[in-house]
Amino acid sequence: MDYDVVIIGCGVVGAACAYELAKHQLRLCVLEASNDVANGTTKANSAIVHAGYDPLPGTKMARLNVAGTAMMGELCRKLDVPYRNNGSLVLSLSEQDDGILRTLYAQGQANGVPGLALLNREQTLAMEPNLSPDLRGALFAPSAGIVNPWELCLALAETAVRNGAELRLSAPVTAIRRTEGGFCISTPQGELTARYVVNCAGVSSDRIAAMAGDRSFRIQPTKGEYFLLDKSEGSRVERVIFQCPSQLGKGVLVTPTVHGNLLVGPNAAACDETDTANTAAGLDFVRASAQRSVPGVNFRDNIRNFAGVRANSDRPDFILEESAAAPGLIHAAGIRSPGLSAAPAIGLEILELLRQAGLTLRRKDSFIDSRKRVRFHQLSDGEKNELIQADPRYGRVICRCETVTEGEIVACLHTPIPPVSVNGVKRRVGAGMGRCQGGFCGPRVQEIIARELGLDPTQVLMDWEGSWVLCGETKDVAP
Ligand SMILES: Cc1cc2nc3c(=O)[nH]c(=O)nc-3n(C[C@H](O)[C@H](O)[C@H](O)COP(=O)(O)OP(=O)(O)OC[C@H]3O[C@@H](n4cnc5c(N)ncnc54)[C@H](O)[C@@H]3O)c2cc1C
Repeated sequence: MDYDVVIIGCGVVGAACAYELAKHQLRLCVLEASNDVANGTTKANSAIVHAGYDPLPGTKMARLNVAGTAMMGELCRKLDVPYRNNGSLVLSLSEQDDGILRTLYAQGQANGVPGLALLNREQTLAMEPNLSPDLRGALFAPSAGIVNPWELCLALAETAVRNGAELRLSAPVTAIRRTEGGFCISTPQGELTARYVVNCAGVSSDRIAAMAGDRSFRIQPTKGEYFLLDKSEGSRVERVIFQCPSQLGKGVLVTPTVHGNLLVGPNAAACDETDTANTAAGLDFVRASAQRSVPGVNFRDNIRNFAGVRANSDRPDFILEESAAAPGLIHAAGIRSPGLSAAPAIGLEILELLRQAGLTLRRKDSFIDSRKRVRFHQLSDGEKNELIQADPRYGRVICRCETVTEGEIVACLHTPIPPVSVNGVKRRVGAGMGRCQGGFCGPRVQEIIARELGLDPTQVLMDWEGSWVLCGETKDVAP
């Protein structure tokens, strides 16, 4: 066998599994279809670390949400991932909502959510003065927070790689064949064998299961659309502001992001698994719904719209189990919201399922459980000066909106999982995340990628394979 365990998919769930497995003496490989990690649902969601009152008591979703949220602060501290424990409020805007809040409170108590409190109108407005005049009260959850979801995924995957896991990008699994004592997995890069396979393929997890002869569940992709507003709107609210959930999900929220922007969304609409297009109808719905809870949001300060696709399934809970049809195949499938919050605990759950399936787990003597990166704009003047003296590239600001330096971009291009695209750089250091959305810094980032990776400028991608920024001949133009 080439590997003890192969993980399929490197979103936050696959990365969390890789992080936990890399603590053990195993031959471990992660196969990711995209040319970067965190390029699926993990990069397009609300980025909320949910407290855990939404899932029904007794479900895996409830247990792993509360456990994952409890792990998040320490994990993000160790791996240098932006995270803020700012708490959340679910608003009551009607008599019917009052009843829903009481149900959520009771569910939260049953799920073990710490510190939940039902607040009246005055208590809520004292915390958040910009809420709706229709406000009646709220459910306060102090353990909720916000996180950078793609950096969490990247940090987990980088730590796994630094500790010996192999990551193959642009390696979509196309077939899985059962063999004596394991599996043979095909990708366009070739075949490899493994004793155990962990299916973390998000919206494609039913197709991965079917490749191994398991048709026990179906994914029903559901799209959610967003507005991302400029930092000028970032302090409109301090906490995550939810409306009462309905059958369609947790409803439209208004929240600050860890970068200081304001995020508004999502709606919920059935879609194709690759459909991340924004629609006028979807965005109109989101805007109107958000104004019911925070009427003053200034949508003229919108800088970006995006959509993410939920891996809803035909089962009411996360699918975390060994396949009955293909023993040795472990599913981490149908991981819809609160999958980001639960991911650290899902990693541990998968470890336990692998152990129950017969995998011997021996801890490594040493495991590098830390990560650090320079965030120039957060340094003191003294620290900035020191850095520039040591490396003048930190004195050249490439992204003016977010104050990202050439030094940071070059450093990210030489990490264990280097980006291969302009958006890959954006996800790692924030260049292009600001008000101009890369209008000014995009071409400079492209030049730096080409120079550092020894590429011709025409080979530099915007994001996915084939998304070249330039085409045709490039010529040196005299100044
Ligand atoms: C609109 C929306 C809002 C959400 N909000 C929140 C929130 O606020 N808080 C929260 O906790 N959760 C939230 N979620 C849920 C959360 O985003 C997901 O649960 C989580 O990102 C799922 O991670 P994943 O790794 O399972 O999936 P993904 O991130 O999609 O990763 C799956 C990976 O598998 C790869 N893959 C697919 N097929 C193959 C193949 N054949 N071979 C190799 N690789 C393959 C894909 O390329 C992808 O990278 C939200 C989701 C959506 C859509």
